[in-house]
Amino acid sequence: MVSRVIPVDPFDLVVFGGTGDLARRKIIPALFRRYCSGQVPEGSRIIGAARSELDRDGFCDMVAGAIREFSGGRACEDGTLERFLQMVDYVKLDASGEDGWSELTHLIKEDRTRAFYLSVGPALFGDIAGRIRTHGLVNDQTRIVVEKPFGHDLESAQALNATLAQHFHERQIYRIDHYLGKETVQNLMAVRFGNMLFEPLWNAQYVDHIQITVAETVSIGSRGEYYDRAGAMRDMMQNHLMQLLCLIAMEPPARFEPDSVRDEKLKVIRALDPVEPHHIVRGQFDGTGDEPGYREEVGHPRSTTESYVALKAHISNWRWSGTPFYLRTGKKLVARSSVINVVFKDAPHSIFGTDAGGAANILSIRLQPNEGITMHVTIKEPGPGGMRLVDVPLDMSFAEALGPEGEDPPDAYERLIMDVIRGNQTLFMRGDEVEAAWAWTDPIIAGWKARGEVPKPYDAYSKGPLDADQLMRRDGREWRGIKP
Ligand code: NAP
Repeated sequence: MVSRVIPVDPFDLVVFGGTGDLARRKIIPALFRRYCSGQVPEGSRIIGAARSELDRDGFCDMVAGAIREFSGGRACEDGTLERFLQMVDYVKLDASGEDGWSELTHLIKEDRTRAFYLSVGPALFGDIAGRIRTHGLVNDQTRIVVEKPFGHDLESAQALNATLAQHFHERQIYRIDHYLGKETVQNLMAVRFGNMLFEPLWNAQYVDHIQITVAETVSIGSRGEYYDRAGAMRDMMQNHLMQLLCLIAMEPPARFEPDSVRDEKLKVIRALDPVEPHHIVRGQFDGTGDEPGYREEVGHPRSTTESYVALKAHISNWRWSGTPFYLRTGKKLVARSSVINVVFKDAPHSIFGTDAGGAANILSIRLQPNEGITMHVTIKEPGPGGMRLVDVPLDMSFAEALGPEGEDPPDAYERLIMDVIRGNQTLFMRGDEVEAAWAWTDPIIAGWKARGEVPKPYDAYSKGPLDADQLMRRDGREWRGIKP
Protein backbone atom coordinates (compact mmCIF):
# COMPACT_ATOMS: atom_id res chain seq x y z
CA MET A 1 0.00 0.00 0.00
CA VAL A 2 1.31 3.46 -0.78
CA SER A 3 0.88 5.45 2.39
CA ARG A 4 -0.41 8.92 1.49
CA VAL A 5 0.18 11.56 4.09
CA ILE A 6 -1.75 14.78 3.62
CA PRO A 7 0.40 17.55 5.11
CA VAL A 8 -1.00 19.99 7.64
CA ASP A 9 0.48 23.18 9.04
CA PRO A 10 1.89 23.27 12.58
CA PHE A 11 -0.92 23.38 15.13
CA ASP A 12 -1.54 23.64 18.87
CA LEU A 13 -3.54 20.84 20.50
CA VAL A 14 -4.54 21.21 24.13
CA VAL A 15 -5.62 17.96 25.77
CA PHE A 16 -7.73 18.73 28.83
CA GLY A 17 -7.41 15.58 30.92
CA GLY A 18 -3.95 14.97 29.42
CA THR A 19 -3.04 12.72 32.35
CA GLY A 20 -6.16 10.54 32.07
CA ASP A 21 -6.77 7.07 30.74
CA LEU A 22 -8.05 8.08 27.31
CA ALA A 23 -5.18 10.50 26.75
CA ARG A 24 -2.61 7.87 27.72
CA ARG A 25 -4.11 4.95 25.85
CA LYS A 26 -5.41 6.64 22.71
CA ILE A 27 -4.80 10.34 22.13
CA ILE A 28 -1.06 10.56 22.83
CA PRO A 29 -0.14 7.31 21.05
CA ALA A 30 -2.25 8.39 18.07
CA LEU A 31 -0.40 11.70 17.83
CA PHE A 32 2.93 9.94 18.10
CA ARG A 33 2.04 7.50 15.34
CA ARG A 34 1.00 10.37 13.07
CA TYR A 35 4.27 12.09 13.92
CA CYS A 36 6.17 8.94 12.94
CA SER A 37 4.25 8.92 9.67
CA GLY A 38 5.33 12.48 9.00
CA GLN A 39 1.90 14.02 9.33
CA VAL A 40 2.30 15.98 12.56
CA PRO A 41 4.69 18.74 11.49
CA GLU A 42 7.63 19.94 13.55
CA GLY A 43 6.75 23.05 15.49
CA SER A 44 3.31 21.75 16.48
CA ARG A 45 2.57 21.66 20.19
CA ILE A 46 0.73 19.14 22.30
CA ILE A 47 -0.20 20.67 25.62
CA GLY A 48 -1.52 18.50 28.42
CA ALA A 49 -3.79 20.24 30.94
CA ALA A 50 -4.94 18.72 34.22
CA ARG A 51 -4.87 19.40 37.96
CA SER A 52 -1.99 17.01 38.74
CA GLU A 53 1.17 18.59 40.15
CA LEU A 54 3.48 17.98 37.22
CA ASP A 55 6.08 20.05 35.46
CA ARG A 56 6.93 19.71 31.77
CA ASP A 57 9.51 16.99 32.45
CA GLY A 58 7.09 15.01 34.58
CA PHE A 59 4.44 15.16 31.89
CA CYS A 60 6.99 14.19 29.21
CA ASP A 61 7.88 11.11 31.30
CA MET A 62 4.19 10.19 31.40
CA VAL A 63 3.85 10.77 27.64
CA ALA A 64 6.94 8.65 26.91
CA GLY A 65 5.57 5.87 29.12
CA ALA A 66 2.19 5.99 27.38
CA ILE A 67 3.86 5.80 23.97
CA ARG A 68 5.99 2.83 24.97
CA GLU A 69 3.00 1.02 26.38
CA PHE A 70 0.29 1.87 23.89
CA SER A 71 1.67 2.99 20.55
CA GLY A 72 1.57 -0.51 19.09
CA GLY A 73 5.25 -0.97 18.48
CA ARG A 74 5.37 1.36 15.47
CA ALA A 75 8.91 1.28 14.19
CA CYS A 76 10.28 4.82 14.04
CA GLU A 77 13.69 6.24 13.35
CA ASP A 78 16.06 6.59 16.30
CA GLY A 79 15.49 9.83 18.14
CA THR A 80 11.86 10.20 17.03
CA LEU A 81 10.48 9.97 20.53
CA GLU A 82 12.93 12.59 21.80
CA ARG A 83 11.97 14.95 18.95
CA PHE A 84 8.27 14.32 19.59
CA LEU A 85 8.72 15.17 23.28
CA GLN A 86 10.15 18.55 22.34
CA MET A 87 6.65 19.44 21.11
CA VAL A 88 5.03 18.46 24.41
CA ASP A 89 4.14 20.89 27.19
CA TYR A 90 2.01 20.81 30.32
CA VAL A 91 -0.14 23.28 32.22
CA LYS A 92 -1.45 22.59 35.69
CA LEU A 93 -4.98 23.82 35.37
CA ASP A 94 -8.36 23.47 37.03
CA ALA A 95 -11.12 23.26 34.47
CA SER A 96 -13.71 24.45 36.95
CA GLY A 97 -11.66 27.27 38.45
CA GLU A 98 -9.29 29.98 37.29
CA ASP A 99 -6.01 28.23 38.18
CA GLY A 100 -3.69 27.83 35.23
CA TRP A 101 -5.81 29.48 32.53
CA SER A 102 -3.61 32.50 32.02
CA GLU A 103 -0.55 30.21 31.67
CA LEU A 104 -2.43 28.25 29.04
CA THR A 105 -3.45 31.42 27.23
CA HIS A 106 0.19 32.52 27.01
CA LEU A 107 1.23 29.20 25.50
CA ILE A 108 -1.24 29.30 22.62
CA LYS A 109 0.15 30.77 19.45
CA GLU A 110 -1.70 33.16 17.16
CA ASP A 111 -2.35 32.39 13.49
CA ARG A 112 -2.47 28.65 13.61
CA THR A 113 -5.05 25.95 14.16
CA ARG A 114 -5.77 25.49 17.85
CA ALA A 115 -7.73 22.47 18.94
CA PHE A 116 -9.03 21.84 22.45
CA TYR A 117 -9.66 18.18 23.19
CA LEU A 118 -12.02 17.70 26.15
CA SER A 119 -10.80 14.35 27.46
CA VAL A 120 -12.43 14.90 30.84
CA GLY A 121 -15.71 13.88 32.44
CA PRO A 122 -18.77 15.42 30.71
CA ALA A 123 -19.60 17.48 33.82
CA LEU A 124 -16.63 19.70 32.90
CA PHE A 125 -17.52 20.26 29.23
CA GLY A 126 -19.56 23.41 29.90
CA ASP A 127 -16.96 24.90 32.26
CA ILE A 128 -14.13 24.36 29.81
CA ALA A 129 -16.08 25.63 26.81
CA GLY A 130 -16.97 28.79 28.74
CA ARG A 131 -13.42 29.41 29.93
CA ILE A 132 -11.93 28.89 26.48
CA ARG A 133 -14.24 31.70 25.38
CA THR A 134 -13.71 34.05 28.35
CA HIS A 135 -9.93 33.70 28.08
CA GLY A 136 -10.09 34.91 24.51
CA LEU A 137 -9.01 31.60 22.98
CA VAL A 138 -11.80 31.40 20.41
CA ASN A 139 -11.08 32.56 16.90
CA ASP A 140 -11.78 31.21 13.40
CA GLN A 141 -9.03 28.64 13.81
CA THR A 142 -10.40 27.20 17.05
CA ARG A 143 -11.84 23.69 17.25
CA ILE A 144 -13.25 21.86 20.22
CA VAL A 145 -13.33 18.06 20.47
CA VAL A 146 -15.93 16.49 22.72
CA GLU A 147 -15.77 12.88 23.88
CA LYS A 148 -18.66 10.56 24.54
CA PRO A 149 -20.94 10.33 26.43
CA PHE A 150 -22.68 13.24 24.75
CA GLY A 151 -25.51 13.60 27.23
CA HIS A 152 -27.46 11.00 29.16
CA ASP A 153 -30.77 11.55 27.39
CA LEU A 154 -32.36 13.98 24.96
CA GLU A 155 -32.76 16.73 27.53
CA SER A 156 -29.14 16.65 28.71
CA ALA A 157 -27.84 16.41 25.12
CA GLN A 158 -29.93 19.45 24.16
CA ALA A 159 -28.58 21.33 27.18
CA LEU A 160 -25.01 20.42 26.26
CA ASN A 161 -25.52 21.41 22.65
CA ALA A 162 -26.99 24.72 23.80
CA THR A 163 -24.01 25.35 26.10
CA LEU A 164 -21.49 24.60 23.36
CA ALA A 165 -23.47 26.74 20.91
CA GLN A 166 -23.08 29.75 23.25
CA HIS A 167 -19.34 29.65 22.69
CA PHE A 168 -18.70 27.90 19.35
CA HIS A 169 -20.18 27.58 15.88
CA GLU A 170 -21.35 24.10 14.97
CA ARG A 171 -18.54 24.00 12.40
CA GLN A 172 -16.05 24.24 15.29
CA ILE A 173 -17.50 21.37 17.34
CA TYR A 174 -16.16 17.84 16.80
CA ARG A 175 -18.24 15.23 18.65
CA ILE A 176 -16.22 12.04 18.58
CA ASP A 177 -17.65 8.64 17.92
CA HIS A 178 -14.44 6.70 17.42
CA TYR A 179 -16.29 4.00 15.46
CA LEU A 180 -16.53 6.47 12.60
CA GLY A 181 -12.74 6.67 12.47
CA LYS A 182 -12.30 2.97 11.89
CA GLU A 183 -10.91 2.07 8.51
CA THR A 184 -13.62 -0.48 7.81
CA VAL A 185 -16.41 1.91 8.68
CA GLN A 186 -15.20 4.25 5.99
CA ASN A 187 -14.75 1.29 3.74
CA LEU A 188 -18.42 0.63 4.22
CA MET A 189 -19.05 3.85 2.32
CA ALA A 190 -16.39 3.02 -0.25
CA VAL A 191 -17.92 -0.41 -0.86
CA ARG A 192 -21.45 0.95 -1.10
CA PHE A 193 -20.83 4.05 -3.16
CA GLY A 194 -17.63 3.19 -5.03
CA ASN A 195 -18.91 0.00 -6.69
CA MET A 196 -21.73 -0.46 -9.12
CA LEU A 197 -22.06 -4.02 -7.86
CA PHE A 198 -23.75 -3.42 -4.52
CA GLU A 199 -25.79 -0.23 -4.55
CA PRO A 200 -28.48 -1.43 -7.00
CA LEU A 201 -29.14 -4.37 -4.65
CA TRP A 202 -28.99 -2.31 -1.45
CA ASN A 203 -32.69 -2.12 -0.68
CA ALA A 204 -35.68 -4.03 0.64
CA GLN A 205 -36.26 -5.75 -2.69
CA TYR A 206 -32.99 -7.69 -2.46
CA VAL A 207 -31.87 -7.49 1.18
CA ASP A 208 -33.65 -9.89 3.53
CA HIS A 209 -32.27 -8.32 6.69
CA ILE A 210 -29.19 -6.67 8.18
CA GLN A 211 -27.42 -7.64 11.39
CA ILE A 212 -25.07 -5.41 13.34
CA THR A 213 -23.10 -7.02 16.15
CA VAL A 214 -20.67 -5.32 18.49
CA ALA A 215 -19.60 -8.01 20.96
CA GLU A 216 -16.99 -7.44 23.64
CA THR A 217 -15.22 -9.95 25.85
CA VAL A 218 -14.21 -7.25 28.29
CA SER A 219 -16.25 -6.38 31.32
CA ILE A 220 -17.07 -3.04 32.93
CA GLY A 221 -13.68 -2.60 34.62
CA SER A 222 -13.15 0.64 36.48
CA ARG A 223 -16.10 2.34 34.77
CA GLY A 224 -18.68 0.70 37.09
CA GLU A 225 -20.20 3.88 38.43
CA TYR A 226 -20.67 5.44 35.01
CA TYR A 227 -21.71 2.20 33.32
CA ASP A 228 -24.37 1.31 35.86
CA ARG A 229 -26.05 4.65 35.16
CA ALA A 230 -25.72 4.16 31.41
CA GLY A 231 -26.05 0.50 30.41
CA ALA A 232 -25.46 -0.98 26.98
CA MET A 233 -28.27 1.06 25.42
CA ARG A 234 -26.73 4.41 26.28
CA ASP A 235 -23.09 3.34 26.22
CA MET A 236 -23.08 1.56 22.86
CA MET A 237 -26.44 1.40 21.05
CA GLN A 238 -27.34 5.10 21.05
CA ASN A 239 -24.02 6.05 19.50
CA HIS A 240 -21.78 3.37 17.95
CA LEU A 241 -24.42 0.96 16.66
CA MET A 242 -26.68 3.79 15.62
CA GLN A 243 -23.87 5.32 13.57
CA LEU A 244 -23.19 2.01 11.86
CA LEU A 245 -26.89 1.64 11.12
CA CYS A 246 -26.92 5.10 9.57
CA LEU A 247 -23.99 4.40 7.27
CA ILE A 248 -25.46 1.10 6.16
CA ALA A 249 -28.93 2.46 5.56
CA MET A 250 -28.46 6.04 4.38
CA GLU A 251 -29.15 7.29 0.87
CA PRO A 252 -26.09 8.14 -1.22
CA PRO A 253 -24.95 11.60 -0.14
CA ALA A 254 -24.42 14.05 -3.00
CA ARG A 255 -20.78 14.41 -2.00
CA PHE A 256 -18.44 12.98 0.62
CA GLU A 257 -18.68 16.19 2.58
CA PRO A 258 -19.65 16.80 6.19
CA ASP A 259 -23.18 18.09 5.84
CA SER A 260 -24.08 15.92 2.84
CA VAL A 261 -23.18 12.80 4.80
CA ARG A 262 -24.65 13.97 8.08
CA ASP A 263 -27.93 15.09 6.48
CA GLU A 264 -28.40 11.56 5.11
CA LYS A 265 -27.54 9.93 8.45
CA LEU A 266 -30.02 12.17 10.22
CA LYS A 267 -32.79 11.15 7.81
CA VAL A 268 -32.20 7.51 8.73
CA ILE A 269 -32.48 8.16 12.46
CA ARG A 270 -35.64 10.19 11.93
CA ALA A 271 -37.15 7.39 9.85
CA LEU A 272 -36.64 4.78 12.58
CA ASP A 273 -39.91 3.44 13.97
CA PRO A 274 -40.32 3.24 17.73
CA VAL A 275 -39.19 -0.22 18.83
CA GLU A 276 -41.89 -2.63 20.05
CA PRO A 277 -41.16 -3.86 23.60
CA HIS A 278 -41.19 -7.51 22.44
CA HIS A 279 -38.53 -6.66 19.85
CA ILE A 280 -35.92 -5.88 22.51
CA VAL A 281 -33.93 -8.21 24.74
CA ARG A 282 -31.87 -6.90 27.63
CA GLY A 283 -29.33 -9.05 29.43
CA GLN A 284 -27.01 -8.91 32.41
CA PHE A 285 -24.08 -11.30 32.78
CA ASP A 286 -23.84 -13.77 35.65
CA GLY A 287 -20.70 -14.52 37.61
CA THR A 288 -18.50 -17.51 36.98
CA GLY A 289 -16.73 -19.49 39.70
CA ASP A 290 -13.75 -17.12 39.48
CA GLU A 291 -15.23 -13.85 38.31
CA PRO A 292 -17.97 -11.62 39.73
CA GLY A 293 -21.29 -11.16 38.01
CA TYR A 294 -22.42 -7.77 36.77
CA ARG A 295 -24.07 -6.71 40.04
CA GLU A 296 -21.07 -7.61 42.17
CA GLU A 297 -18.76 -5.92 39.74
CA VAL A 298 -20.59 -2.59 39.83
CA GLY A 299 -21.27 -2.97 43.57
CA HIS A 300 -25.02 -2.61 43.19
CA PRO A 301 -26.76 -5.86 44.27
CA ARG A 302 -30.15 -4.97 42.78
CA SER A 303 -28.98 -3.22 39.63
CA THR A 304 -31.33 -3.60 36.67
CA THR A 305 -28.87 -2.08 34.21
CA GLU A 306 -28.27 -4.08 31.05
CA SER A 307 -24.81 -5.21 29.99
CA TYR A 308 -26.35 -6.60 26.79
CA VAL A 309 -29.07 -5.40 24.45
CA ALA A 310 -30.44 -6.81 21.21
CA LEU A 311 -33.27 -5.30 19.21
CA LYS A 312 -35.12 -5.37 15.93
CA ALA A 313 -35.49 -2.00 14.24
CA HIS A 314 -37.47 -0.87 11.22
CA ILE A 315 -36.74 2.08 9.01
CA SER A 316 -39.90 3.53 7.54
CA ASN A 317 -38.75 4.77 4.20
CA TRP A 318 -38.97 3.77 0.56
CA ARG A 319 -35.66 1.92 0.50
CA TRP A 320 -36.03 -0.21 3.62
CA SER A 321 -39.73 -0.80 4.13
CA GLY A 322 -40.07 -4.43 5.31
CA THR A 323 -36.35 -5.12 5.85
CA PRO A 324 -35.56 -5.56 9.56
CA PHE A 325 -32.31 -4.41 11.12
CA TYR A 326 -31.15 -6.54 14.06
CA LEU A 327 -28.68 -4.85 16.38
CA ARG A 328 -26.95 -6.35 19.39
CA THR A 329 -24.13 -5.43 21.69
CA GLY A 330 -22.89 -6.75 25.01
CA LYS A 331 -20.07 -7.19 27.45
CA LYS A 332 -18.36 -10.37 28.63
CA LEU A 333 -19.40 -12.29 25.55
CA VAL A 334 -17.62 -15.27 24.09
CA ALA A 335 -15.61 -13.32 21.51
CA ARG A 336 -14.63 -9.80 20.59
CA SER A 337 -16.30 -9.19 17.30
CA SER A 338 -17.78 -6.18 15.51
CA VAL A 339 -19.39 -7.17 12.28
CA ILE A 340 -22.16 -6.11 9.96
CA ASN A 341 -23.90 -8.80 7.94
CA VAL A 342 -26.01 -7.83 4.97
CA VAL A 343 -28.08 -10.92 4.26
CA PHE A 344 -29.52 -10.98 0.77
CA LYS A 345 -32.73 -12.74 -0.21
CA ASP A 346 -32.71 -16.20 -1.74
CA ALA A 347 -32.72 -16.46 -5.52
CA PRO A 348 -36.39 -16.40 -6.57
CA HIS A 349 -36.23 -19.87 -8.10
CA SER A 350 -33.67 -22.67 -7.89
CA ILE A 351 -33.08 -24.31 -11.26
CA PHE A 352 -31.09 -27.02 -9.44
CA GLY A 353 -33.98 -28.14 -7.26
CA THR A 354 -34.61 -27.60 -3.58
CA ASP A 355 -32.27 -30.42 -2.49
CA ALA A 356 -29.22 -28.99 -4.24
CA GLY A 357 -28.15 -26.89 -1.24
CA GLY A 358 -26.64 -23.42 -1.37
CA ALA A 359 -27.32 -20.45 0.85
CA ALA A 360 -28.23 -16.80 0.68
CA ASN A 361 -25.50 -14.35 -0.30
CA ILE A 362 -24.13 -12.52 2.70
CA LEU A 363 -21.83 -9.54 2.70
CA SER A 364 -19.92 -9.49 6.01
CA ILE A 365 -18.09 -6.36 6.94
CA ARG A 366 -15.72 -6.99 9.84
CA LEU A 367 -14.76 -4.00 11.94
CA GLN A 368 -12.71 -5.99 14.41
CA PRO A 369 -10.79 -8.14 14.75
CA ASN A 370 -9.08 -8.66 11.40
CA GLU A 371 -10.79 -5.78 9.57
CA GLY A 372 -12.02 -6.88 6.19
CA ILE A 373 -14.89 -7.95 4.01
CA THR A 374 -16.22 -11.37 3.14
CA MET A 375 -18.75 -12.08 0.41
CA HIS A 376 -20.46 -15.44 0.77
CA VAL A 377 -21.40 -16.80 -2.63
CA THR A 378 -22.87 -20.04 -3.84
CA ILE A 379 -20.82 -22.25 -6.17
CA LYS A 380 -20.89 -25.83 -7.34
CA GLU A 381 -19.39 -28.34 -4.94
CA PRO A 382 -16.29 -29.62 -6.73
CA GLY A 383 -16.21 -33.15 -8.09
CA PRO A 384 -18.66 -35.60 -9.60
CA GLY A 385 -22.04 -36.47 -8.14
CA GLY A 386 -24.42 -34.07 -9.79
CA MET A 387 -25.07 -30.43 -9.13
CA ARG A 388 -24.60 -29.81 -5.42
CA LEU A 389 -24.24 -26.23 -4.27
CA VAL A 390 -22.01 -24.93 -1.50
CA ASP A 391 -21.55 -21.58 0.15
CA VAL A 392 -17.95 -20.28 -0.02
CA PRO A 393 -16.45 -17.13 1.43
CA LEU A 394 -14.60 -14.71 -0.83
CA ASP A 395 -12.49 -13.19 1.88
CA MET A 396 -10.49 -10.00 1.95
CA SER A 397 -8.55 -9.05 5.03
CA PHE A 398 -7.49 -5.41 4.69
CA ALA A 399 -4.25 -6.03 6.55
CA GLU A 400 -3.29 -8.74 4.05
CA ALA A 401 -4.63 -7.03 0.95
CA LEU A 402 -3.48 -3.48 1.57
CA GLY A 403 -1.20 -3.09 4.56
CA PRO A 404 2.56 -3.01 4.36
CA GLU A 405 3.88 -6.08 6.10
CA GLY A 406 3.90 -5.87 9.86
CA GLU A 407 2.24 -2.44 10.05
CA ASP A 408 -1.10 -2.03 11.79
CA PRO A 409 -3.77 0.01 9.99
CA PRO A 410 -4.10 3.52 11.46
CA ASP A 411 -6.05 3.65 14.67
CA ALA A 412 -9.41 5.45 14.61
CA TYR A 413 -8.05 8.20 16.88
CA GLU A 414 -5.18 8.90 14.49
CA ARG A 415 -7.56 9.61 11.67
CA LEU A 416 -10.05 11.56 13.74
CA ILE A 417 -7.50 13.82 15.42
CA MET A 418 -5.94 14.66 12.06
CA ASP A 419 -9.42 15.35 10.66
CA VAL A 420 -9.93 17.84 13.49
CA ILE A 421 -6.69 19.57 12.55
CA ARG A 422 -7.65 19.55 8.86
CA GLY A 423 -11.09 20.90 9.74
CA ASN A 424 -13.00 17.99 8.23
CA GLN A 425 -16.17 17.15 10.18
CA THR A 426 -17.44 14.32 7.95
CA LEU A 427 -16.66 11.62 10.50
CA PHE A 428 -18.02 13.54 13.49
CA MET A 429 -21.58 13.69 14.76
CA ARG A 430 -23.58 16.84 14.30
CA GLY A 431 -25.64 18.15 17.23
CA ASP A 432 -29.00 17.35 15.60
CA GLU A 433 -27.89 13.77 14.87
CA VAL A 434 -27.03 13.17 18.51
CA GLU A 435 -30.35 14.63 19.63
CA ALA A 436 -32.31 12.53 17.13
CA ALA A 437 -30.52 9.40 18.37
CA TRP A 438 -31.53 10.22 21.95
CA ALA A 439 -35.09 10.98 20.85
CA TRP A 440 -35.29 7.39 19.52
CA THR A 441 -33.51 5.84 22.52
CA ASP A 442 -35.25 7.65 25.38
CA PRO A 443 -38.72 6.06 24.98
CA ILE A 444 -37.15 2.60 24.90
CA ILE A 445 -35.40 3.21 28.21
CA ALA A 446 -38.49 4.92 29.68
CA GLY A 447 -40.56 1.88 28.64
CA TRP A 448 -38.27 -0.49 30.58
CA LYS A 449 -38.58 1.68 33.63
CA ALA A 450 -42.36 2.04 33.39
CA ARG A 451 -42.82 -1.72 33.01
CA GLY A 452 -40.29 -2.50 35.77
CA GLU A 453 -38.36 -4.74 33.39
CA VAL A 454 -35.40 -6.68 34.67
CA PRO A 455 -32.66 -7.86 32.28
CA LYS A 456 -32.35 -11.57 31.48
CA PRO A 457 -29.31 -13.24 33.00
CA TYR A 458 -26.75 -14.68 30.62
CA ASP A 459 -23.63 -16.74 31.16
CA ALA A 460 -20.39 -14.82 31.12
CA TYR A 461 -18.43 -15.58 27.93
CA SER A 462 -21.52 -16.91 26.14
CA LYS A 463 -23.25 -15.45 23.08
CA GLY A 464 -25.71 -13.55 25.30
CA PRO A 465 -29.24 -14.29 26.55
CA LEU A 466 -31.15 -17.10 24.86
CA ASP A 467 -34.07 -14.72 24.31
CA ALA A 468 -31.89 -12.83 21.84
CA ASP A 469 -31.66 -16.00 19.74
CA GLN A 470 -35.44 -16.28 19.94
CA LEU A 471 -35.78 -12.72 18.67
CA MET A 472 -34.22 -13.96 15.43
CA ARG A 473 -35.67 -17.47 15.35
CA ARG A 474 -39.22 -16.17 15.61
CA ASP A 475 -38.52 -14.56 12.24
CA GLY A 476 -36.88 -17.71 10.84
CA ARG A 477 -33.39 -16.18 11.04
CA GLU A 478 -30.12 -16.75 12.92
CA TRP A 479 -27.50 -14.43 14.31
CA ARG A 480 -24.17 -14.63 12.63
CA GLY A 481 -20.91 -13.11 13.64
CA ILE A 482 -19.82 -14.08 17.16
CA LYS A 483 -17.33 -16.87 16.75
CA PRO A 484 -15.32 -18.05 19.76
P1 NAP B 1 -9.91 9.69 33.55
O1 NAP B 1 -8.88 8.64 33.41
O2 NAP B 1 -10.68 9.78 34.82
O3 NAP B 1 -9.20 11.08 33.30
C1 NAP B 1 -9.80 12.30 33.57
C2 NAP B 1 -8.81 13.42 33.31
O4 NAP B 1 -9.44 14.66 33.63
C3 NAP B 1 -7.55 13.33 34.14
O5 NAP B 1 -6.45 13.75 33.38
C4 NAP B 1 -7.81 14.34 35.26
O6 NAP B 1 -6.57 14.79 35.72
C5 NAP B 1 -8.57 15.41 34.48
N1 NAP B 1 -9.41 16.25 35.33
C6 NAP B 1 -10.38 15.86 36.19
N2 NAP B 1 -10.93 16.95 36.77
C7 NAP B 1 -10.30 18.03 36.28
C8 NAP B 1 -10.42 19.43 36.48
N3 NAP B 1 -11.30 19.95 37.34
N4 NAP B 1 -9.61 20.24 35.79
C9 NAP B 1 -8.70 19.75 34.92
N5 NAP B 1 -8.55 18.44 34.68
C10 NAP B 1 -9.33 17.59 35.35
O7 NAP B 1 -11.00 9.62 32.40
P2 NAP B 1 -10.81 9.03 30.93
O8 NAP B 1 -11.11 7.59 30.95
O9 NAP B 1 -9.53 9.50 30.37
O10 NAP B 1 -12.04 9.72 30.15
C11 NAP B 1 -12.03 11.07 29.75
C12 NAP B 1 -13.29 11.34 28.94
O11 NAP B 1 -13.28 10.51 27.78
C13 NAP B 1 -14.59 11.01 29.65
O12 NAP B 1 -15.60 11.89 29.22
C14 NAP B 1 -14.91 9.60 29.18
O13 NAP B 1 -16.28 9.33 29.22
C15 NAP B 1 -14.43 9.70 27.74
N6 NAP B 1 -14.07 8.42 27.14
C16 NAP B 1 -13.10 7.64 27.69
C17 NAP B 1 -12.75 6.45 27.08
C18 NAP B 1 -11.64 5.58 27.63
O14 NAP B 1 -11.34 4.57 27.00
N7 NAP B 1 -11.02 5.93 28.72
C19 NAP B 1 -13.42 6.03 25.93
C20 NAP B 1 -14.41 6.86 25.38
C21 NAP B 1 -14.72 8.05 26.01
P3 NAP B 1 -6.34 15.42 37.18
O15 NAP B 1 -6.99 14.51 38.16
O16 NAP B 1 -4.85 15.50 37.27
O17 NAP B 1 -6.96 16.76 37.15
